Amino acid sequence: MSIPFIDLKAQYQALKPQIQERINRVLEHGQYIMGPEVKELEDKLVAYTGAKHCITVASGTEALLMSLMALGIKPGDEVITTPFTFAATAEVIVLLGAKPVFVDIEPDTCNINASLIEAKVTERTKAIMPVSLYGQPADMDEINAIAKKYGDIPVIEDAAQSFGATYKGKKSCNLSTIGCTSFFPSKPLGCYGDGGAIFTSDDALAQVLREIRVHGQSARYVHTRVGVGGRMDTLQCAIVLAKLERFEWEVAQRIAIGERYNQLLDQKAIQRVQQRGDRTSVFAQYTVIAKNRTELQQRLAQCDVPTAVHYPIPLNEQPAYQHLCCPECTPVASMVANGVMSVPMSAELSQSQQDRIVEALRS
Ligand SMILES: *Cc1c(COP(=O)(O)O)cnc(C)c1O
Repeated sequence: MSIPFIDLKAQYQALKPQIQERINRVLEHGQYIMGPEVKELEDKLVAYTGAKHCITVASGTEALLMSLMALGIKPGDEVITTPFTFAATAEVIVLLGAKPVFVDIEPDTCNINASLIEAKVTERTKAIMPVSLYGQPADMDEINAIAKKYGDIPVIEDAAQSFGATYKGKKSCNLSTIGCTSFFPSKPLGCYGDGGAIFTSDDALAQVLREIRVHGQSARYVHTRVGVGGRMDTLQCAIVLAKLERFEWEVAQRIAIGERYNQLLDQKAIQRVQQRGDRTSVFAQYTVIAKNRTELQQRLAQCDVPTAVHYPIPLNEQPAYQHLCCPECTPVASMVANGVMSVPMSAELSQSQQDRIVEALRS
């Protein structure tokens, strides 16, 4: 029998009564936009991450866009980021007329290489946006130190894949000026549609973000600034609230499965994405680096093990972004993109399924 790449149905079965009760409550009270579940979720996420403020929003992409808007990013500005990420990271920079400045990645973690950032800082640099790829934070201390050195450049963590991860004991989303996450269904903490959240401990920024979320209103029909329709709806907040009850267990499961894969694969000398000792990954993806990916994917398919590639092409080699930076400027991203391959990962994976996946990789 085929192993699901991410087992959302099994997760739903395990939480069905709580989720249905939460949904029914919203349907009955009728406050479908900015209902009580929105505040309840924001309070719980503040307690979980340790950040002072949480602003739930329509998606992870909206979280990133609104964060750049709140920081006043405008045409001519530069934002330093990684080319080895989902398109949304760079897309929002371009949407505001600013320029993504791509910095190459580390070959072992696939996260932005912090030691290459400083050379790319100019007086136009208005933000640095590292991505916590595959669920593992980048070198945030080093990145925050560079940002501080050049006049407190704001740092936005794209934590769309890393909610629940930690860095030196602190939670992802609370590691820099702003943290942005996504509740897209397949992320470590997902809803049943689109959703996301922005975290910050800066009171003024939080206020601006709350205004931007509702078309720039500081009071009803007082539009102080240009904003967006960026709310997360009450039903999706209710679903995340139900899933939060089991989230700690799921994170522990994901870490245990990731570590088991690591052990079994290290014995077989298969190259894999590495995790640093001072942080935990939530393994949004479990990713290996194949010598011949096409062949390996076919082999695994024959064993009924599905695979996925995140990401086959770095952003600076994509038609929409290739004019910004040549592939030769980010050789590691180009190389790694040819080999990365993710295997099934979810808290529901049984030991025998994990063994089957490792066996298939071995063969
Ligand atoms: C998923 C993802 C996003 C976008 O999140 P959505 O909720 O789908 O808009 C942004 N950045 C990264 C790194 C992602 O993985």
